[in-house]
Amino acid sequence: MIARDKALEELAAEPFDVVVVGGGVTGAGVALDAASRGYTTAIVERADWAIGTSSRSSKMVHGGLRYLQSFDLGLVREALLERQLMVHLAPHLVYPTPYLVPTLGDDRRDFKIGIGLNMYDVMATTRVGQGRRQRGPRREREREPEGQEPPPESWAPDRHRTIPGAEAVELVPALGPREPKSAYLFYDCQTDDVRLVLTILGEAERFGAVMANRLEVTSLLERDGKAEGVRCQCAESGETVEIRAANVVNATGVWADRIRPGEILDETEVPRIAPSRGTHLTVPLEKLPLADAACIVPAGSGRTIFVLPWYGRALIGTTDNDYEGDIDRVRPGAEDVSYLLDAINVYFGTDLGRDDLTGAYAGVRPLISTGDPKKSVDISRKAELYETSSGMLTITGGKLTTWRRMAKLVVDRIAMREERELPCRTAEIPLGMGARPEDLEPPAGVDAASLPAGLAKHLNFRYGHAAREVLDTAAERPELARPIVGGCPDLLAEAAIAARREQARSVGDVLLRRTRLALTAAPQLRNAEAVRAVAEAIGGELGWDEARIGAAADAWPAELEAEGADPAGAAS
Ligand SMILES: Cc1cc2nc3c(=O)[nH]c(=O)nc-3n(C[C@H](O)[C@H](O)[C@H](O)COP(=O)(O)OP(=O)(O)OC[C@H]3O[C@@H](n4cnc5c(N)ncnc54)[C@H](O)[C@@H]3O)c2cc1C
Repeated sequence: MIARDKALEELAAEPFDVVVVGGGVTGAGVALDAASRGYTTAIVERADWAIGTSSRSSKMVHGGLRYLQSFDLGLVREALLERQLMVHLAPHLVYPTPYLVPTLGDDRRDFKIGIGLNMYDVMATTRVGQGRRQRGPRREREREPEGQEPPPESWAPDRHRTIPGAEAVELVPALGPREPKSAYLFYDCQTDDVRLVLTILGEAERFGAVMANRLEVTSLLERDGKAEGVRCQCAESGETVEIRAANVVNATGVWADRIRPGEILDETEVPRIAPSRGTHLTVPLEKLPLADAACIVPAGSGRTIFVLPWYGRALIGTTDNDYEGDIDRVRPGAEDVSYLLDAINVYFGTDLGRDDLTGAYAGVRPLISTGDPKKSVDISRKAELYETSSGMLTITGGKLTTWRRMAKLVVDRIAMREERELPCRTAEIPLGMGARPEDLEPPAGVDAASLPAGLAKHLNFRYGHAAREVLDTAAERPELARPIVGGCPDLLAEAAIAARREQARSVGDVLLRRTRLALTAAPQLRNAEAVRAVAEAIGGELGWDEARIGAAADAWPAELEAEGADPAGAAS
């Protein structure tokens, strides 16, 4: 990614065709789509890339089995097709995971789930009525509308099936004491949401997009009531930066109605955003063992939660409650933490408490309220695109999984209003590239035995072929060849790469987003000394002096506390 200082110069210099406001998955997607259709494109983020909902999701690239209950069939089908396409476009970053719905004790197998899974299977086929295994080469006349069909040779899940209890225990050893009779097994996909955003931005940059974080849009530039760019404030210098652009896209998620609220709120037909909070927890796999499979867990009142393997931890989520608190700092609710732990303990017969937590996070969903006083669990995950009086296009709602469709909606609209024929290309643009074996070899000068276990797999997932630069940095600066936290594979060299290549500017950027250590190893990151080496690695890239390095490390404990990422620390 371009260095931030250079980006600021470029943003102020020439007018763009499109400026995108908001650096979550939706904004990143719009930037990639617009740039790849040939539009000169700028994208700005007021804080850090993916700092909003896009770093706080359940990390699933999925159809959303539970949305079948609300008969959101179109959304589920669309998301299932995107799921398949994402595995094809980013195989190193989006991977399938088996999910279990076990039957325990005297319970009878829930046939309603079986029916739902049958629907899920059918909807995941690229052409209804055709089994995945029999799919032949795609013929032009059989194609669904543009962008709706993944390539024929891409990954496709096996149909769901019922497995015996012993196999269920092999996949989810935590089920052992409950002696399950059987389990439904189906597939969905997982990712790291922040890496997905950074990867999409990286591709957008390849097509010429210019990007800068810590640049908050404070108002629109206008002529005769029409938007012709944005005015931003730089969070570092306080200076104003004006970016001129023919099209302004507001992709600010739950903040969408803060940009020109008068303009948006005056429009009676514009749907309102109804935030809903979701909390997640992580615990060590030793305390809740999963062997590369996830498990759906009943959580009372017909709700279910899940537990997934993620970065060497069991990730437990999620709650889904209307939220009226501060959307700028969303912390896991104390009652949500208890609710999740109770549900897990009741189901697995465990005794997990706050002290066992390795991390926690919460986010708010940008759900679209129809004015119907339904609970958020029932409100649609559909995306909405609307154009307000200045011509600004606002896109919000939707899911991590459907980012590409949302982006396409926006750029189709821009092309349409310019009466141009510019087909969307994102269904064919690979997202990053997996590493070759030689990219992952330990570099000369680094003792391979001293590197953490699982490093090659970890680096390939996170960086693909760019893993080489992480390893080379570790070779050039041996002090960066060690893990940030003992027992986790994330190297200090990654903090340097984050500052050099990914516009990271703080310890929080590295620990909460470029790596996810604050969510998976929070107890080991409680004080400034624990993160001093991270501040030094960042400072080494950005030319910080001793005082600035010290200040960056000192600022971290307050950020960890504000995020609520360490409930075990708060409890002790
Ligand atoms: C708990 C939870 C679990 C979820 N799980 C899943 C899941 O497993 N799978 C799935 O598909 N979806 C999931 N979702 C939904 C998904 O995460 C969101 O739909 C998606 O991340 C929204 O992305 P976005 O880019 O629209 O918004 P955001 O990621 O919030 O991005 C908006 C960005 O705009 C920036 N911004 C705001 N104002 C300004 C300004 N004035 N100037 C510049 N920038 C600004 C913000 O800082 C922010 O980074 C989940 C959501 C939640 C809350």
